[in-house]
Amino acid sequence: MLGAAELIDVGRAAGLAAVGVTHAEPFENTFADLEQRKTQGLSAQMQFTYRNPVRSTNPRLTMVDATALVVGAHDYQRELPARPVDEPTARIATYSSEDHYASLREALKQIAVVLQGAGHKAVVLADENNLVDRAVAHRAGIGWWGKSSNILVPGVGSMVLLGSVLTNAPITFEEAEPLADGCKTCNKCLHGCPTGAIIEPGTVDANKCLAWLLQASGVFPAQYRELLGDRIYGCDDCQDVCPPNQIRRKKPAASGEAAWVSILDMLELSDEALLQRFGRWYVPHRDPNYLRRNALVVLGNIGRGEDQRTAKILTEMLAHQSTLVVAHAVWAARRLNRNDLLGSLTRSQLEDSLVSAELERPVKVLE
Ligand code: SF4
Ligand code: SF4
Repeated sequence: MLGAAELIDVGRAAGLAAVGVTHAEPFENTFADLEQRKTQGLSAQMQFTYRNPVRSTNPRLTMVDATALVVGAHDYQRELPARPVDEPTARIATYSSEDHYASLREALKQIAVVLQGAGHKAVVLADENNLVDRAVAHRAGIGWWGKSSNILVPGVGSMVLLGSVLTNAPITFEEAEPLADGCKTCNKCLHGCPTGAIIEPGTVDANKCLAWLLQASGVFPAQYRELLGDRIYGCDDCQDVCPPNQIRRKKPAASGEAAWVSILDMLELSDEALLQRFGRWYVPHRDPNYLRRNALVVLGNIGRGEDQRTAKILTEMLAHQSTLVVAHAVWAARRLNRNDLLGSLTRSQLEDSLVSAELERPVKVLE
């Protein structure tokens, strides 16, 4: 029989910042929470574990004879490389600046190999919507639920990706006690969120969360465009202000990582090149026009209207076949005080409901 300590050692040796073991009984409280948030509309169109809460909260629907979960936390906090200064540059959230999920999966795989080698089933679940990974980490005692709704690992913080190995192995372990709330009187994440999306401790309204809005389909909500600032993927704000993340020494950024992206380069890429370069990101319907939509909102926040290359790109985006792209190009052009470019809009574009809504919308010109 395998002991939890052995598996924890394997995970730690593979680079995981924390490893825990818990039983595979359903997560009933989490199921109730997911259902309640869906009913209240707080999950917006978000899918992930909301897509099928019955499945994501019951490991035995993924493995019928599952006995245990070995959960691991991959620490992805890194020093932010300096921002390039020569052109408008958008920010990529830390968790996506390199393929941290690949590192997490690789470490979990090493635990799975040990379990399989002992003749048991073992499946790695990481970023697959089949499991409420934060609830697993909490039940396994490797972190506490922060007011930001993230799991905080003592001594590591909240910048961790979580994943599990689901197994039918008869692992011996003592059930962990839930960790004490380490947030105590701190409320920094609630005040640090630019949109007020953390509506109460532990509850994020996805309708207001910039990280989700960048992944949601449809028009980018006008009331959050200025607040999006230079974020092109994800948002770190509620974690950047979190004291447990601030006090620790961060690892240096890995070479070759892309923490910043030139917004003009991005808008010049073809469909294929966009998906090739940013294919790791969650893009609604794998439609590259959503990357352009987001890039145009960022351009409206950090671009320079007087710049010739910017004007050329805006002109191209205003002639784009996607009216979603055209609509956001209208917003960006107006924000950069380039209303003169709007004269190129065709009659059918002007009659389009997305485009006409943008023309009627009040826009604050970027100063
Ligand atoms: S990710 Fe950003 S927008 Fe979302 S809750 Fe955190 S700070 Fe707010
Ligand atoms: S900012 Fe403060 S309240 Fe929010 S998760 Fe971090 S420690 Fe907890």
